[in-house]
Amino acid sequence: MTTKSFDILIIGGGIMGSAAAYYLMEKEPHLKLAVIERDPTYARSSTTLSAANVRVQFSLAENVKISQYAIAVLERFEETMAIEEEKPRIHFRQEGNLFLVNETGQAAARKALVMQQGLGCQADWWSPEKIKKQYPLYHTEGLSGGTFGPKDGHFDAHAVLMAYKAKARSLNAQFINDEVSRIKVDKNRAIGLELAQLGPLAAPCIINCAGAWATEIAITAGVTLPVMPVKRQVFVLDTAVKADGPLPLTILPSGLYFRSETGGLLLLGKSMDEDPAGFSFTWDDKRFMEILWPELAEFVPAFDRLKLVRGWAGLYAVNTLDGNAIVGEWPEMKGLYLANGFSGHGLQQAPAVGRYLSELILNQPITLDLSIFGPERILTNRPLSEDGLV
Ligand SMILES: Cc1cc2nc3c(=O)[nH]c(=O)nc-3n(C[C@H](O)[C@H](O)[C@H](O)COP(=O)(O)OP(=O)(O)OC[C@H]3O[C@@H](n4cnc5c(N)ncnc54)[C@H](O)[C@@H]3O)c2cc1C
Repeated sequence: MTTKSFDILIIGGGIMGSAAAYYLMEKEPHLKLAVIERDPTYARSSTTLSAANVRVQFSLAENVKISQYAIAVLERFEETMAIEEEKPRIHFRQEGNLFLVNETGQAAARKALVMQQGLGCQADWWSPEKIKKQYPLYHTEGLSGGTFGPKDGHFDAHAVLMAYKAKARSLNAQFINDEVSRIKVDKNRAIGLELAQLGPLAAPCIINCAGAWATEIAITAGVTLPVMPVKRQVFVLDTAVKADGPLPLTILPSGLYFRSETGGLLLLGKSMDEDPAGFSFTWDDKRFMEILWPELAEFVPAFDRLKLVRGWAGLYAVNTLDGNAIVGEWPEMKGLYLANGFSGHGLQQAPAVGRYLSELILNQPITLDLSIFGPERILTNRPLSEDGLV
């Protein structure tokens, strides 16, 4: 039996794999490209379990630019991603992100804000009085203020994923339902994949888009990534008292976040130091009742009466080196490209990363240079912090 050959094989068909497939096929329609996804229901993919937020409010300029592009893409998404007359409905709601800060966080927040404004972002400093005026339910005592980005917001992550996938397929990308068991290499060159059912596939270019499972599959090529799955939990609440209008994604100095969800509900979460590493998807209502609810009710006393409607757990692919994306060709393995370690903000980074990878692989002019996220820094152990200090 002859081995099937491709130009490009992508491991994982979540938002990264599907977006990369779309941008590649859009630029080079003759490519023979396949995306290998073991679970087309995406039940455990981070993409469909995320809070689906996009924000320009980062303190590393490249992360801000990535989100500026994402917002521009999302604003036009329903038109540009239509197939024939069929438009995807992604429910992009630009209800804003409000990062609250106390004295300790004020200088850093103001510095990041100046940088964001310098890049043309709409983002402003809000005093505690302004916050109280806009959102009277909030208890602003002890806060120095906050930064508000009116263009930030949330969207239907599943719909965006399905649209990238459908559009990539309409451009002749293949989606194969199978598990990649190994990356095949010849000395220091990637040459294909071994699939659990279909067996071997050959290609000179492989992209690892396996999300929280990226490390497991990279090691089969002898590549060790500092990427670890960490469980994060989200809760959906029905509060007795409702705000007058939508609440922005509001982030407390402690990291607790909440925002309006459709149907008059509230979505809430918090990354915690004790969040376990590993592939666990169980969620814990005790965490909500004993820790998160008291914290929420202290900030919004009106939310002391509510119903916990549901919850879920998903995985962050945490880059333990520096919490930033790892994007580019692995320096010691020709043809093995990475789009990994997004650490909680990969959904909004998929358009820019997908486009960048397509330009890099096809050797085309780079629109937004993301080489700062290159994997060389792993080998040289040079972390890239959020404010760009190395
Ligand atoms: C609770 C939570 C909240 C989040 N909130 C946000 C947010 O507000 N904004 C934001 O931008 N990001 C957020 N994120 C992060 C975001 O969801 C991820 O960074 C992003 O979805 C990663 O996409 P991906 O395609 O890399 O991974 P995934 O969506 O996990 O896709 C990887 C795919 O690879 C497949 N796969 C893995 N191994 C194999 C194999 N060997 N063979 C075949 N298939 C394989 C998996 O089945 C999976 O479908 C959040 C994540 C969580 C868990």
